[in-house]
Amino acid sequence: MLAAIILPGRPARAVEWSTLFTAQDVRDHLSTEQGRQEALAFCRKMGVTKVYIETFRGYQADEVTLKAARDFFRQAGLKVSGCVTTVGISKPSSGGHSWVCYTNRQTQERLEAIFRFTAALFDEIMIDDFFCTDCQCSECAAAKGSMSWDQYHEKQMLQISRERVLGPARAVNPHVKVIIKFPQWYDRFQERGYVPDQEAAIFDRIWVGTELRDPASDHWGNKQQYEGYFIYRWLTDVGGAKTGGGWFDPFGTTPTLYLDQPLTTILAGAPEVFLFHYGALTSPDYHAQADALAPRREQYEKLATFVSGWSGIPTYKPVSSDPGEEAYVLDEIGMLGIPESPTAHFPEGARAAILTTQALGDAELVPKLVRLLAAGGTVFISQPLAHRLNGDPRLPTPVPRDLDKDQYVKTTQEGEGKLVVFSDALPHLTHVDGQNRVEQLTPELRTALKDLRGKVADFTVTSLDAPPRVAVYPLGRRVAVVNYTELPVACRLTGIAGVAHKLTQLYSLDGAALAPDGQTLRLPPHAALVVE
Ligand SMILES: [Zn+2]
Repeated sequence: MLAAIILPGRPARAVEWSTLFTAQDVRDHLSTEQGRQEALAFCRKMGVTKVYIETFRGYQADEVTLKAARDFFRQAGLKVSGCVTTVGISKPSSGGHSWVCYTNRQTQERLEAIFRFTAALFDEIMIDDFFCTDCQCSECAAAKGSMSWDQYHEKQMLQISRERVLGPARAVNPHVKVIIKFPQWYDRFQERGYVPDQEAAIFDRIWVGTELRDPASDHWGNKQQYEGYFIYRWLTDVGGAKTGGGWFDPFGTTPTLYLDQPLTTILAGAPEVFLFHYGALTSPDYHAQADALAPRREQYEKLATFVSGWSGIPTYKPVSSDPGEEAYVLDEIGMLGIPESPTAHFPEGARAAILTTQALGDAELVPKLVRLLAAGGTVFISQPLAHRLNGDPRLPTPVPRDLDKDQYVKTTQEGEGKLVVFSDALPHLTHVDGQNRVEQLTPELRTALKDLRGKVADFTVTSLDAPPRVAVYPLGRRVAVVNYTELPVACRLTGIAGVAHKLTQLYSLDGAALAPDGQTLRLPPHAALVVE
């Protein structure tokens, strides 16, 4: 008692770890006392204090087993919620993915029955990110009438959410909270019926897919690690306090790349980190990923205590915006060491903004842009968007905004403000080959990157000398830097946080260190450093 009073209090635990037992895991691992004890041992090893027990994933788990598992984990002191994955329900989508046709009456009725069943067992239900559709079958075609497919699917998913998920679940259990988890492929939501702002309004909570993959993998779409940060911050801007946590899995990763996920998810501010899923993380294929994470979780929990006050240049992606030829370019810009503050709302009144083709999802973009420039703002604008805006008579000056051949950055004065057009060759510097190596920078590209970062440094902290794939995360007075390359990096920070000041090291992961000069950051591959 006395010791407890005298010792300084430990920082509040800032991260909760959770995991999922899929419906198949319930069948295969939780139907016996021994299986449940093994599962509990895994939770203890991983620091998991909350479990999600899934009732349905193309297969409906047995009610007796579900109840036994739920009560077992509760008695062991863990929080217990439910989960549903909306695959394999009656009629498949014509698109060939595992999604289903929600126009179909039998699908709707089966869906409702699944949520009634689940709400009777649990007070919280997670919906995995298959709750979307691209069905264009004859039933859907007849139902959509004159709407576009995107419009139809968005309207349909909202209606199904209200009438076949939320309504029935709440009727069965007035206390139930239903969480919609969004996939990490945020630039494609509009094609498959995800409408994050309207869904965040009707669901009780939202969840964020922060899955990262081997960037070298064509199969997984050459994902950039910054994506986990971008989508988490962007959906937090949409969902606000309803944003409950991040979610990732071991697929498409090595143990080293797997660990980029807790790191990036926690830097983005997720209070709960959801480890998908027990059956995979204990399988021969992926247990190495779980074994790599287990001994390090306290280091991530410590990192979380330094994470708050996210900032950067407002980066605008309206909800339901189409990326055109720039899908996921916002992840690449972040990987250039250019800090972004992702937002679904036009940054009125900001001193600077980053705009790409996605911004055209806002029909009022040009007048808003004109206001921002008139107020003296600086707008970093991608070459494809500049090309689309070329010659728009509402912009202050009629100069061509396209870049000349071999020109990578071009600044034009627009009334009181500035437009900084940057070539798509710069975000492409983050692309990797089969060994996760970036291409050698030509002298011209090296100069252009430094030029762009120099302009960024007027508004936020960045690095002029870091190679591509080193990300900079401003956190209030602190800055986190992560080396996502496969080589050791030494770099310096510049920008508003402290050009000439000596930095202080607050936190180091994997041997990253601030040099005795108080300015040079040394980061081994996949290491992270937080300085003040
Ligand atoms: Zn259909």
